[in-house]
Amino acid sequence: MYDIIYVGIDDTDSSRGMCTTYITAVVMDELKDYGFQIIGYPRLIRLNPFARFKTRGNGAVSFKLLVKSNEEFETAKNLILNGVEKLSHLEEENTNPGVVFYKQKMDVTNIDIDDLDDELFLPKVLEDYAQNTVRNLVTIEDAEKTADLIGAEIYKFKKGRGIIGALASIGCPLEDRTFELLAYRIPLNYGTKRRIKYESVLKMDQITYPCTFDNLDEEEGYIAIEPHTPCPILWGIRGETSDCVKKAHDMIKSCEPIERTAIFITNQHTDQHLLKINQISNMTKYNCYIVKGEVADNPHVIAGGHVILKLRDDSGSIECAAYEPTKGFRDIFKQLIKGDFIKVYGGIGEKGTLNVEKFKIIELAKAYNTINPLCSCGKRMKSAGKNKGYKCPKCGRKIKDDNKILLEINRTLKKGFYEVPPSARRHLSKPLIRCRIDR
Ligand code: ATP
Repeated sequence: MYDIIYVGIDDTDSSRGMCTTYITAVVMDELKDYGFQIIGYPRLIRLNPFARFKTRGNGAVSFKLLVKSNEEFETAKNLILNGVEKLSHLEEENTNPGVVFYKQKMDVTNIDIDDLDDELFLPKVLEDYAQNTVRNLVTIEDAEKTADLIGAEIYKFKKGRGIIGALASIGCPLEDRTFELLAYRIPLNYGTKRRIKYESVLKMDQITYPCTFDNLDEEEGYIAIEPHTPCPILWGIRGETSDCVKKAHDMIKSCEPIERTAIFITNQHTDQHLLKINQISNMTKYNCYIVKGEVADNPHVIAGGHVILKLRDDSGSIECAAYEPTKGFRDIFKQLIKGDFIKVYGGIGEKGTLNVEKFKIIELAKAYNTINPLCSCGKRMKSAGKNKGYKCPKCGRKIKDDNKILLEINRTLKKGFYEVPPSARRHLSKPLIRCRIDR
């Protein structure tokens, strides 16, 4: 009889640096050096993008290990808690790490350890809590209650807010999943310019896309695998399988050493944060949705270059935005017109505006130009004054009817999906290329 220990970790970093994935990679390597067996891939779970205290991408991490005795469990626990304490940015006010241990008994005598991952089941209450943490806002008390219900042990550093994410990372169901390989820098290089050979990234992308994706933002001339923060990550490669992210990693060249790498299984790019909803009036702030509606007015541009339109259905309306960082996507969004029927994917922020991640045009409204009528002599008529009809400038003929002629314009937009560029994509947002490929 073995015990499977699920370990969740969150809220260890700050805007000055560090990364929960790095701390996890370090403690996992230490555990392996000690002789512990890790099961499957560690998980990097992205939670509600509107969580108030997030540092960047609201990611939480977990992994599983096997222990044979309580003594081994205590050894592993000490090693993990020491690692988190040593590497976390505890001096930063908003860094409040949390670690969760959840133990399951398992008879592994007839199971190959490599297949063990598929044999594991988590309590429904934990999965529900995790799903809720991806889609809604939860409290430290919610996490404590759930941990109590399933008998998980929680460890809080300072306020210990990290237990929210740590527990969710353990429990998150992964019906769809992607992989990310993270390569870490040596500490000496933290905060310095990353020395990546960009041509090698271009080549890697040509060879491995779409099994890897979001490596580049070609339109913006932007290398998307490279973070722009002082964190320990040199690059992160996202893809469909662990093999393809490994292959892609091996193709990239850099002029600085790599301390270690780790591959995570993740809910990134699965749209798990989005809730399908039938009525606009049921949508609330800090939640993310898929919702259908009619464009209620033509889009307009506001200060800062953000493009705004109103979406409505029978229940109400909501302001939708393509914000400035979405760059070229705004030019597409701007071409929508009143009457278009669309399906929008995105989340509602602080001000109650839905931040559009992608949209599908279901029906295009007809667009018209208006022109003055033609005279029987062939000349285009001119207005004879307000409510006075038209007069021909050539033959002088007058007509009383002052209706204009409607001329249908060819819409350049086509029915179908449109998405933001990789540089503006949320971690959870599913790129269209993932919707298209067979897996
Ligand atoms: P990084 O991505 O660089 O690891 P981060 O953006 O994940 O950083 P954290 O430092 O982990 O940010 O802080 C996020 C905090 O918010 C954590 O304490 C986490 O437990 C908490 N949290 C996560 N999801 C929710 C949620 N749905 N509701 C309330 N709090 C949440």
